Amino acid sequence: MTTPTLSTTGIHKSFGSHHVLKGITLDAHKGDVISILGASGSGKSTYLRCINLLETPDEGSMQLDGEVLKVRQRKDGRMEAMDRKQVERMRSQLAMVFQSFNLWSHMTVLQNLIEGPMRVQKRPRAECVEEADQLLQRVGLFERRDYYPAHLSGGQQQRVAIARALAMRPQVMLFDEPTSALDPELVGEVLKVMRSLAEEGRTMLVVTHEMGFARNVSNRVVFMHQGVIDVEGAPADVFGTHATERFRQFTSSHQDRAAA
Ligand code: ADP
Ligand code: MG
Repeated sequence: MTTPTLSTTGIHKSFGSHHVLKGITLDAHKGDVISILGASGSGKSTYLRCINLLETPDEGSMQLDGEVLKVRQRKDGRMEAMDRKQVERMRSQLAMVFQSFNLWSHMTVLQNLIEGPMRVQKRPRAECVEEADQLLQRVGLFERRDYYPAHLSGGQQQRVAIARALAMRPQVMLFDEPTSALDPELVGEVLKVMRSLAEEGRTMLVVTHEMGFARNVSNRVVFMHQGVIDVEGAPADVFGTHATERFRQFTSSHQDRAAA
């Protein structure tokens, strides 16, 4: 077995007295596309935010590409990250795509793509522009490179957000319900881009309600319930013989809005 690209072990997170994550252990190997399913409130976003270090887990450990996140215990027993520089470096390896796109509205599409690579990674502008143009071709939006986000459809904005994430050359891509805010007719164009990333061997964790994507595109499915992993495995198993009663109930209440 090779070293996982991303490894999280025993992740706990509480907000006040609300114990949201109760020990999440999950590894992603290179090229894994892991769909994370679960009812609203089960802790999916909190888990991704812990991975991306937007939240610090209270307990647990994390490794990215063999590098262990350095943490120390505070007086209250909870953890905190020790090394700001390490956090920034690790975070830049974990590009996140949000439900609400989160593009910088005062910047053009091209500026959105080159900002991170130039500012955070200190790469030369010409190189960033060249790569950004290639990524925009890739998501079918090269001709929109000088538009502002407000002049794009939701599906186009989300494709820009994916290209912006790719521009950081991340080890792992994290998606938090990337199609949930879109009108139904725009879901397919975003799923198509995500499918092409999966096919080229990107390592992806995808929180989604798109059952077609989970079944047909991802190689592993994780079903979360109240802060724990209820069932995990290959899609054929999780959707088939290994399905728990809870997972059956969940899937029967979620239908695809677009074929993945
Ligand atoms: P999901 O993404 O599966 O819908 P979340 O991870 O967003 O679930 O939320 C899990 C629970 O944690 C919810 O009850 C939510 O209200 C709570 N929660 C999430 N973030 C915070 C926060 N910053 N402060 C307090 N409670 C939070
Ligand atoms: Mg969520």
